[in-house]
Amino acid sequence: MSGTALVTGVTGQDGGYLVEQLAGSGWSVHGVVRPGEALPEALWALGEAVVLHEADLLDHTAMRQVLAAASPDAVFNLAGLSSVAESWDQPVLAARVNGLAVAFLLDLVWRRQEATGHAVRFLQASSAEIFSGAEQAPQNESTEVSPRSPYGAAKAYAHHLVQVYRARGLHAVSTILYNHESPRRPPTFVTRKITQAVAAIAEGQQRSLVLGNLAARRDWGWAPEYVDAMVRALQHSSADDYIIATGRSHSVEDFVAAAFARVGIQDWRALVSVDPALHRPADAVELVGDASRARDRLGWSADLDFADIVGRMVDHDRALLQRGRR
Ligand code: GDP
Repeated sequence: MSGTALVTGVTGQDGGYLVEQLAGSGWSVHGVVRPGEALPEALWALGEAVVLHEADLLDHTAMRQVLAAASPDAVFNLAGLSSVAESWDQPVLAARVNGLAVAFLLDLVWRRQEATGHAVRFLQASSAEIFSGAEQAPQNESTEVSPRSPYGAAKAYAHHLVQVYRARGLHAVSTILYNHESPRRPPTFVTRKITQAVAAIAEGQQRSLVLGNLAARRDWGWAPEYVDAMVRALQHSSADDYIIATGRSHSVEDFVAAAFARVGIQDWRALVSVDPALHRPADAVELVGDASRARDRLGWSADLDFADIVGRMVDHDRALLQRGRR
């Protein structure tokens, strides 16, 4: 399947990779950017391969116009506040962009499909954070939704709403994405914070690293593979929910150790301290997903392993510093 895709959240990590994949496989791609928003390098590099529309997701009229202009066969909703930590400071913003905006978009897509007879597929980038209170690991598509953060609660609402519109007849897909990283991750996420710091320590530009909860465990995958899962899920003949995960969890401490190992530092403990102020009011203890459905139906699996993910991110950050010096 290819056609015209409209992607929200196009300036984010996943948005950039998704636009690259879609444009590279014959799709016409449109993206939505917030008015006045700066564009990342990855989007500049794509040039005219992506048509950008300025609109606020919560501006119903503007979004209706974007849909009319793009006339998409598929809408990928990747927009939203991406940081769980930030959602504790901005719970209302999290509710608006991760929850309410999805209601606006589903309503617009549904009405457009009804009015024009032009079928539109919808994909929601859902999140493992909807399972933060889960008592069992790994989680699968039947695990009870139990958010523990404003971010997770808003994503849970959006996740349910996708199911509501699917039952109403829209081809609405939800990919429940576990943490997925890359050199394009912002340092508000612990992975990039660690790889930037370890690179700077290795280059003699920083002395130490301060972190929060080292015992938290996450199922960390490689972002370009997760974007590929989204495309596969959207293209599948039946709309459903799909867990997208590696099935393996590691602690923040494991990530720190792997990053230091990459630069040849085994004895890293004296370089890292813990600040309780960086602990969250509530935090998922262990998020790990069972992606069997995605494997069986979509032929998808997470292939890049943990050490390679950490290694690629550290190498990238080190190269950036070395280039900066030159
Ligand atoms: P999240 O799973 O989407 O919240 O991704 P993050 O990368 O922000 O956080 C992953 C885990 O790392 C959470 O359990 C955090 O509590 C933990 N963590 C420990 N230290 C830090 C830190 O300094 N920054 C962030 N962002 N997370 C930290």
